Amino acid sequence: MKYLAEFQNPDLAKGLLDDIRATVTRPWALMEVCGGQTHTIIRHGIDQLLPDEVELIHGPGCPVCVTPLEVIDKAMEIASRPEVIFCSFGDMLRVPGTDRDLFRVRGEGGDVRVVYSPLDALDIARENPHREVVFFGIGFETTAPPNAMAVHQARKQDIRNFSMLVSHVRVPPAIEAIMTSAECRVQGFLAAGHVCSVMGMEEYPGLAEKFRVPIVVTGFEPLDILEGVRRTVRQLERGEHTVDNAYPRAVRPEGNPAARAMLEDVFEVTDRAWRGIGVIPQSGWRLADKYRDQDAEHRFDVTGITTCEPSACRSGEVLQGLLKPHECEAFGTTCTPRTPLGATMVSSEGACAAYYLYRRLGTPAANREASPVG
Ligand code: SF4
Repeated sequence: MKYLAEFQNPDLAKGLLDDIRATVTRPWALMEVCGGQTHTIIRHGIDQLLPDEVELIHGPGCPVCVTPLEVIDKAMEIASRPEVIFCSFGDMLRVPGTDRDLFRVRGEGGDVRVVYSPLDALDIARENPHREVVFFGIGFETTAPPNAMAVHQARKQDIRNFSMLVSHVRVPPAIEAIMTSAECRVQGFLAAGHVCSVMGMEEYPGLAEKFRVPIVVTGFEPLDILEGVRRTVRQLERGEHTVDNAYPRAVRPEGNPAARAMLEDVFEVTDRAWRGIGVIPQSGWRLADKYRDQDAEHRFDVTGITTCEPSACRSGEVLQGLLKPHECEAFGTTCTPRTPLGATMVSSEGACAAYYLYRRLGTPAANREASPVG
């Protein structure tokens, strides 16, 4: 397939790996903050192909996984109401809340529908003027612009029965939280290319300077990842810490001005809880005051919800890069994609799901023998 096959070329991959091997002289720990990159790394065995000195740590880059339990419970509370049609991307339906998930709500009679775009939910609202239509707006900077557009369009078209349950998160404050954590081992970041295609790169030089870490904007195909690693390792070996763009075919320094203008109009920055991690200051977006009547939390007054994470699930440690998924006692036994205990096993971008799907069931050495892709 054009524009994909070129970035999976084994000969070019070997050349990049040889270059990394020739450059590295000591151990380095790099973090990717994107679930799509995590899946590429595990699916293609990139972490196993890299020299032993280069460790890839998976960060909190899966949007479904970091959506806080309290918001999942609020979604179920709203979706249970008879007047509501609750619309969501499919991944969210199986994310465990405190005592059930949205699939269970649907089984109990809730009108929960899977949509592929927030604008689909807007169409449903237009077609059902006597019902309340709520869209579950979650994710990073990448999914925020279309969600902002849906809210903006609802206002413009006077579709009053449409609202949004918003739980958007922002990557730069998460990098700051990771770097200030006492257990942090990260020495360089592969920044998520799709996030930077929207937001540009201007939020990152301050972080690179403050924490003296290289930040390399990186794409999603195997060669993209290897090029991101190569540039990060090169900086580390030279003692540099700049922001570099290894994904110029999609990312411009200024990002996407139209998308950013839409975000600025509809959302405002707020503190946000990340599932398994806790509250990170200024790390999220909520609807701006002028759109408050389209905020489902206000419209349905879902307050007073107390939550309790299942103690067996260690996804908080997985999301912070402190634990590899197969090091969790429940991995592959009581927790599988069919019986997930945590969101990181549910989502198509979750690290636990990636390790399970691509048969990372044990130590790296055992995986080299057991993995069909290693
Ligand atoms: S394997 Fe399951 S229980 Fe363990 S951290 Fe992952 S999602 Fe949670």
